Amino acid sequence: ASITDGITRGIEGAAASVSGALFEPVVRLGVTGLSRAGKTVFITGLVANLLDRGRMPQLRAHAEGRIEAVWLQPQPDVTLPRFDYEGHLAALTGDAPHWPESTRAVSELRLSFRVRPEGWLAGLAGPRVVHLDIVDYPGEWLLDLALLDKSYADWSEEVLARLARRAEGAEFLATARAEDGALPFDEGRARALAALFTDYLAGARQAGWADCTPGRFLLPGDLAGSPALTFAPLPQPADIPRGCLWREMERRFEGYKAKVVQPFFRAHFARIDRQVVLADVLGAIHAGPQALEDLRRVMADVLGAFRPGRNWWLTALLGGRRVERILFAATKADHLHHAQHAALAGIMEAMLREAKDRAEFAGALTGAMSLAGFRATVEETVTRGGVAQDCVKGRLADGRVVAMYPGRLPDDPARLLSPARQGAERWLEAEFGMMSFEPPLRMARRAGEGLPHIRLDRAVEFLLGDRL
Ligand code: GDP
Repeated sequence: ASITDGITRGIEGAAASVSGALFEPVVRLGVTGLSRAGKTVFITGLVANLLDRGRMPQLRAHAEGRIEAVWLQPQPDVTLPRFDYEGHLAALTGDAPHWPESTRAVSELRLSFRVRPEGWLAGLAGPRVVHLDIVDYPGEWLLDLALLDKSYADWSEEVLARLARRAEGAEFLATARAEDGALPFDEGRARALAALFTDYLAGARQAGWADCTPGRFLLPGDLAGSPALTFAPLPQPADIPRGCLWREMERRFEGYKAKVVQPFFRAHFARIDRQVVLADVLGAIHAGPQALEDLRRVMADVLGAFRPGRNWWLTALLGGRRVERILFAATKADHLHHAQHAALAGIMEAMLREAKDRAEFAGALTGAMSLAGFRATVEETVTRGGVAQDCVKGRLADGRVVAMYPGRLPDDPARLLSPARQGAERWLEAEFGMMSFEPPLRMARRAGEGLPHIRLDRAVEFLLGDRL
């Protein structure tokens, strides 16, 4: 009897876990954006506030009192790094608060909700469990999708032409042009070229250029030093003998596409249901028209990656599946007094409209907003020289707490974005450049209080509201 009992229990257990898996929907939320866009801070703030539900009035399921519990669980993907939520939270809220380490590779976190259904169903059905798998990945890796359509020869030509327009590219360009790709392959030369090319990419990123592909050159994950990352663009020689430098570079470029880019899309991108794309729009506006123009192009490229039919390989991989909602969010809105938040959101909306036109995008529900994953400032109106200025106050690295005025954003996005007027006026010219605020001191948290943020609740409502 005990054996049959055991078997029966085993079968029941299996049935329970199968039905559990069947009836517990999983939503995979991708979080991306270029380096320093604010992904780590966004996810940390999001998870802290969902766990506490202290400051989430715009999340409808919460406002209606239907969320019974939220908890973290072991994620299903056992080989993927877990997003270090606890470490990042401790950085922001510890005794010596500081910004957490930024995203360098893919990581994941599973958050589970127990929610009561809404409306008339509430009386009939019990609460259900919904799992949210948050997948954090560098936007740079997403942009690599464009490489899949290109041969090494085409890519090289394109990159070398782009380099000619960027001051940071001068040294690499001179070296690449002087190189004879028809000479026999030499690992030392390949390394030197790849290193110089990586230096260029780092310089370009520093200078505010957004397109810095191949994505793994700056964020190699665990591939640093591998042959798949030891290549660089070279002019095509007239004659391409076997075993020459150019041919080996071509082989490595193809290897990068097949062994690095494709697996990333297969393992992560292809399974995403909802996506948030973060962008440091304020930083780009402050850096000037060129940086902003570059960010606009990248937004279109990112959106293009989600366009059905964009790339034959990806289309085959997705097999008709598509991302249902995409939110574009301008981060670090706590650099502005709320009087200017509408202007920032307006700029983001205009940029999204434009990106949709450029990428000929249709399909998913898209939205744009401004937010702060973690609010490091408080507002203060300061009268200077008889003029009232809407400032934000925060703690600087040297410990001083100061109120600063970032400067102005245009009320009409066209004054910033239309080609005719671009660069005619400068924006965020006041003290924005000095606003390197640290997280505030004395963040000792009480349970259920959440962390200060701006509009994270609206972001979740847009991304997940229909599933809770
Ligand atoms: P990631 O590279 O996309 O993961 O970017 P992070 O989340 O690490 O953010 C990069 C930096 O931007 C942080 O170290 C902060 O200095 C700043 N930052 C990000 N989010 C916020 C925010 O909500 N408010 C403020 N004031 N600064 C932020």
